[in-house]
Amino acid sequence: MKSFKEIISKANNKIAGIAAAPGIIIGKSYLFAKEKIEISKSPIDDIEEALKNFEEALALSKKELNKIFNIAREKMDEIRAAIFEAHLMILDDEFLLSSIRKRIKEEKVQPEYIVATEISKYQQIMVQSSEYYMKERAQDIEDIKNRIIRNLQKKRWQSKIEKDVIVISESLTPADTLLFTKHETKGFVTDHGGLTSHAAIISRSFNIPAVVGTHNATQIIKDGELVIVDGFHGYVFYNPTEEQINFYSEKQKKLIELQKGLEEFKDKDAITTDGKKINVEANVDVTGEIDLVISAGASGIGLYRSEQLLDEIGGFPSEDEQALIYSKLASRVYPLICTIRAFDVGGDKFKFQDYKEPNPFLGLRGIRFLLDNQNLFKEQIRAVLRASVHKNIKFMIPMVSTLDELWETKKIIEECKKELRKDKIHFDSKMKIGIMVEVPSTAVMSKDFASEVDFFSIGTNDLIQYLMAVDRGNDLVADLYQEFSPVVLRTIHYIVQGAKEFDTPVSLCGEMAADTLAIPILVGLGLDSISMSPATILYAKRIINSFSYKKAKAMAEECLQMKTEKEIQQRILKFFEENNISRTRNII
Ligand code: PEP
Ligand code: MG
Repeated sequence: MKSFKEIISKANNKIAGIAAAPGIIIGKSYLFAKEKIEISKSPIDDIEEALKNFEEALALSKKELNKIFNIAREKMDEIRAAIFEAHLMILDDEFLLSSIRKRIKEEKVQPEYIVATEISKYQQIMVQSSEYYMKERAQDIEDIKNRIIRNLQKKRWQSKIEKDVIVISESLTPADTLLFTKHETKGFVTDHGGLTSHAAIISRSFNIPAVVGTHNATQIIKDGELVIVDGFHGYVFYNPTEEQINFYSEKQKKLIELQKGLEEFKDKDAITTDGKKINVEANVDVTGEIDLVISAGASGIGLYRSEQLLDEIGGFPSEDEQALIYSKLASRVYPLICTIRAFDVGGDKFKFQDYKEPNPFLGLRGIRFLLDNQNLFKEQIRAVLRASVHKNIKFMIPMVSTLDELWETKKIIEECKKELRKDKIHFDSKMKIGIMVEVPSTAVMSKDFASEVDFFSIGTNDLIQYLMAVDRGNDLVADLYQEFSPVVLRTIHYIVQGAKEFDTPVSLCGEMAADTLAIPILVGLGLDSISMSPATILYAKRIINSFSYKKAKAMAEECLQMKTEKEIQQRILKFFEENNISRTRNII
């Protein structure tokens, strides 16, 4: 059978987006186009009648939302269900409601016009506010506005939706998403939205594969057409070829097979058959993923990508807002450790509008940006320190390429500690400070860094791209993005050995840790911790429990002598066969 790379590179019927909820689904598309709401501004004669209509529409909207809130509470955890509770609170906002009533009386025009303009004003205020989550909440309010207007116009939510379809839509409100799940929707594809959109969060809680942020899926995919959604890699195939259908059907079957018996690893540690314990930690992009971290029995959070907050909020949150977010995060996983990474802005991530760079991946990214914007950096450091009172936070610096950057960072952290002491604010004075090893210069100097930090985390996503000079997001050179290249393995080995000389713990948090085929060699290379997306943790634990460290180490030593990726891959495959471990590569 063809490899994933071959399937992807050949396909001219694929749409790329953001992998928002894992899974594979093949099915019929349903193009969900929102009904355009026409708003009338015509004058009214009977004010009492208009006010009565408004109260009825309001009551009906509340009833509908209550129903949705109850479904949410039944099917989701409280934090996510709270999205709908917040909607209900808006419908009880006396300030908003009394201005609507007042304007209906004074202006004597259709209530739907007043509702539309008043709620839009409310939205505007929220968009301009710097408060956490306001941006997305403003979008949610669109849903509430349309709901009241539709009820004023006495229209119903049109749901001619068949069961078992894949919904393709420009965007989805949380309420739409939830109602679709009631129709046993099999998958979601949207033009807009990111990992943090509520549609994405809800899809993840319902385990419905989703690809969001495709830009133009609604313009390309026809209603009723067969589509494949690959929620692991963020691809959608429309009108798929027989080869693509066979490839993904095979993956689906394997996935079902592999899921059997997985649950029993929830409460088990990851220990090789000869007794070496490996910490399997979680990478967290969105706060909403925490439940998955806990239910998969992760050893902690190995990487919290704090820059995701910037996308969620659309800017830098204040020190107080950050302190609250990080405290909540740390207390949710307590007593487990939570590794917060400083904002890794730049590259293909959140961009600070002041900078225009021809080569952003080689530009002002991670620590380079932070040292150039020390006020922002200090706010984050103080917030992390304030959240560290329970001593379960570690702080990690991204994109370090020189010792000077590390020294400068340590100096700033000391300054922040001094300021907090002066203000009599408590924090963990021994909070561990580590670095991402993801730039070749730092890998080469790893011994020098090891004596200066409390821990390393190898970021293979970037390390591979910088070692091999391949853009990690460029399909054209994807063949050269080789995680099993001898260069990559020898570099990981070198970093681990350097760290061990100083007893500095090393973890690895790049996607390579989530490639189940890579796990034995990573263990064999001496890594004590690996961190991956929560969806992969149980698979990783099962694999680690099925081979011995001694054999993995011997295999790794052989691979370190090899000269090509192909040779190494074959050796690893042989290891899986020899140890009777089911191969899960490319499924997740
Ligand atoms: C990495 O580079 O491997 C990593 C984990 O960081 P990110 O993917 O966020 O750049
Ligand atoms: Mg990185």
